Amino acid sequence: MAKKSRPKDLTIIVRDGNQLRRTFMQTPNGNIIAYFTMEVGLSSEIPIYSGGLGILAADTLRAAADLGIPFVGVTLLNRRGYYKQSLTPEGKQIEELDEWDPSKYLTKLPTEVTVGLEGRSVKVGAWKLEVKGVDGSRVPLIFLDTNLDANTAIDREITSLLYGDDRAYRLKQEAILGIGGVRMLDTLGYSVKKYHMNEGHTSFVALELLRRYEMDAEAVRRRCVFTTHTPTNSAHDIFHYDLVKSILGDILPEEHLRRYGGHDALNMTLLGLNLSGFVNGVSKKHAEVSKQLFPNHDIKAITNGVHSYTWVCRSLRALYDKYLPGWSKEPELLSRVDIIPSDELWEAHMEAKKELIDFVNQKTSNNLTYDALTIGFARRATGYKRHTLVFSDLRRLKKIGKVNKLQIIMSGKAHLNDIYGKEMIEAVHRHMKELSGCIKTAYLENYNISIAAKMVAGCDVWLNTPLPPYEACGTSGMKAAHNGVLNFSVLDGWWLEGWVENVTGWAIGPHPDAQISAEERYMKELEDLYAKLEYIILPKYYKARGEWINMMKNSIKILAPRFNTNFMLHKYVVSAYLQ
Ligand SMILES: *Cc1c(COP(=O)(O)O)cnc(C)c1O
Repeated sequence: MAKKSRPKDLTIIVRDGNQLRRTFMQTPNGNIIAYFTMEVGLSSEIPIYSGGLGILAADTLRAAADLGIPFVGVTLLNRRGYYKQSLTPEGKQIEELDEWDPSKYLTKLPTEVTVGLEGRSVKVGAWKLEVKGVDGSRVPLIFLDTNLDANTAIDREITSLLYGDDRAYRLKQEAILGIGGVRMLDTLGYSVKKYHMNEGHTSFVALELLRRYEMDAEAVRRRCVFTTHTPTNSAHDIFHYDLVKSILGDILPEEHLRRYGGHDALNMTLLGLNLSGFVNGVSKKHAEVSKQLFPNHDIKAITNGVHSYTWVCRSLRALYDKYLPGWSKEPELLSRVDIIPSDELWEAHMEAKKELIDFVNQKTSNNLTYDALTIGFARRATGYKRHTLVFSDLRRLKKIGKVNKLQIIMSGKAHLNDIYGKEMIEAVHRHMKELSGCIKTAYLENYNISIAAKMVAGCDVWLNTPLPPYEACGTSGMKAAHNGVLNFSVLDGWWLEGWVENVTGWAIGPHPDAQISAEERYMKELEDLYAKLEYIILPKYYKARGEWINMMKNSIKILAPRFNTNFMLHKYVVSAYLQ
């Protein structure tokens, strides 16, 4: 064993019966929860996330720190990051790698493990970052790295890119994460109680454990928790067995691979489901949809959350601190938000709004104003999110904008190979041009965490128009709710659980259970979108500001206490980790 390479500063002495024993980190009893995730969205400076999955991982780590849960995260060190986006005036996306310097933020650990790939021994190194909770409590996050001198030039690149598209490259990445990750935690001395696999990219964890426990699937299931995030079959990670064999060799007898990973090809979601004692989807609706995809599995629901303190803007943090001290560690205290005087809440909101509008006006040329009702929409630019839905009837939108001032701010990147997503961004730019003179608009390039933070606090209304049932949960609307920004959203994902019409926000389109055709659904969505905007939302904003502020308070007090990662982690602890 690589005992010598264990970093000294992690060694502690523990009493084991009558004996003293050396151990590492804080886990003499094997009570650590190891959380595996392909992406982590901690800050804009560490660009190893593409969207909500990574943000959720970071917020989960912060919540674990807040709650003092013995926890360690494992991910890959994507040195070349996800990519930076710039846009031509027509909205054509230009991509550039986003290289960053890990040594500025992380500590290199002296530990190494190996993973066999294509018959070679690939060395895997590790870096560490302490993720902070609100009062300085921390949990470690381990980044696996193959960029080591001992590796071939090609192997050194395995951990470089987030979501490399080439199947062989992707498989190697997932092998490093799952197999290398389990070995790395061992070598670092963590004694793991549960392996939590965040999405199918990490399911090789279960494979490595199956090998370790000599094909005893029950032993693996006792240790594994699996969270699925995708609502469609096509989005699941699938590898042909030929490829698996050529890269992983005979890591497991093929009959076992096929038994747990699927008969015809290795389905990483199926692998996770088959080898975990607890599996869940990320909202009630998503769990239902997942059960239809995998009818033989008992898929529970644990709805995602956001880390409250992280996503509340500066001015509101100060206000919550003043009236509801302790809220940042216990977001449920926000249920008393009614004790905050309305004018102070409005002032704090306007401060965030000004900051956003100033930022937008600095970046774009449309001179947005502080006084206009501002609609925000920012998310990964991919088909089902439907960035263009709000522009479906420009004549109607212009007419609405003539009566009451309205402005729209959007943002979002398309994945490198998502041609439809890129076209959608161009279409948004065309529509925005057509609206000029009637409705002010802006599209912010290079959507990232810092832009998200400004937008979810500084807009008045947060628009969400996914095509049901593709939004497994969605979390940006929860960030908005924490800031008193009102959700106007299609009934999908988390909004089905948070929505109370005219109280916490507004619905767009029918309930997903409604038995109607896709065309009818679309027409109802457009009707709600424009009619509610024209007759309910804009009049309330301009003519009944007191009612508007009451809705802001409702949104904070009803949604924030429930849709946060501290609440979410309590559920994981009780239902999954303690089982
Ligand atoms: C919160 C967040 C997301 C996820 O938002 P959704 O509403 O779930 O799409 C994606 N990207 C960034 C940068 C975020 O902050």
